[in-house]
Amino acid sequence: MKAVVYKKEGIFTLEEREKPKLQEATDAIVKITLASICSSDIHIKKGAVPKAVPGIIVGHEMVGIVESIGEKVTSVQPGERVAVNVETFCGECFFCKRGFVNNCTDEQGGWALGCRIDGGQTEYVRVPFADQGLTKIPDTVTDRQALFTGDLLSTGYWAAQMTPVTSQDTIAVIGAGPTGLCVMMCLRLYHPARIIAIDKDKTRLEFAKKHGYADLVLDAKSKETETVIKSLTENRGADIVMEVAGGTDTFEMAWKLARPSGTVCVIAMYEENQILPLPQMYGKNLTFITGGVDACKCDEILNDIEKGDLNPEPLITHEYPLEKIMEAYELFEKKQDGVIKVAIRP
Ligand SMILES: [Zn+2]
Ligand SMILES: [Zn+2]
Repeated sequence: MKAVVYKKEGIFTLEEREKPKLQEATDAIVKITLASICSSDIHIKKGAVPKAVPGIIVGHEMVGIVESIGEKVTSVQPGERVAVNVETFCGECFFCKRGFVNNCTDEQGGWALGCRIDGGQTEYVRVPFADQGLTKIPDTVTDRQALFTGDLLSTGYWAAQMTPVTSQDTIAVIGAGPTGLCVMMCLRLYHPARIIAIDKDKTRLEFAKKHGYADLVLDAKSKETETVIKSLTENRGADIVMEVAGGTDTFEMAWKLARPSGTVCVIAMYEENQILPLPQMYGKNLTFITGGVDACKCDEILNDIEKGDLNPEPLITHEYPLEKIMEAYELFEKKQDGVIKVAIRP
């Protein structure tokens, strides 16, 4: 089968690989029907993910059909359509039992697929702990609608769930890329008064507005961003700020845009340390929430897609066959042609 392989820093190649086999009784083999390229794949390519193992097949966001299961797998059967979870987790340790699956203590726990073990930019993938890692897709939900369930949407869903949103809140979301858009989409489930998208990329802002993910969009480079938010909140500032951008100055922007006694939720992954200037913040009484996704709500997400409460399909702006995935990488990396997300069809 054809597969995208991380050779070494800076190099991904499309090459021929053996079809995977079941290794553990808790494994499943999934025939991939649709996969995506994620910005984390680009981080791996750049050598910015120290855990990534050279020689592995990349890709960690995909849907498919169960081909075979190990003898201990009970939640899915061969032939069923499934969404694959980005995180591998045992379901039994202290953290898993409390839903904190990102910190699963099993050796294979955490982000393994397409990072430490073979992932999904190929035709078949072996999924460890399949009972936790696979979720059945309802019949009325298409592959394109379900594609982001295990990674991007899980992130948005988790971020919205851990943030104390009320119907009176003005929420500023810094970063209108794919993750930011999913965060906005999931915040809507809690009916905040207003979602404001902030980004320096005009195309992304237009996209967020056009598809109704944001009510208002503001240019991150404009000096008026803070003034506009204040004017909308009787000079208080945003009730909640979601920092999804991870830029050099976006953490500072986040806490500055928040009103006193507001909440700053940091979902972004930074490449450098950030400064938390406690003397300057003293008396502002902010609450900070931080973390990496605990991706264990795929069933709820698929339910919301089925009901029409989540609509992630517009995020797929381009689709390529697996044979042409290197062209898709080029487009995605260079952010050409208004690309938000690329779907790959094996
Ligand atoms: Zn990802
Ligand atoms: Zn665990």
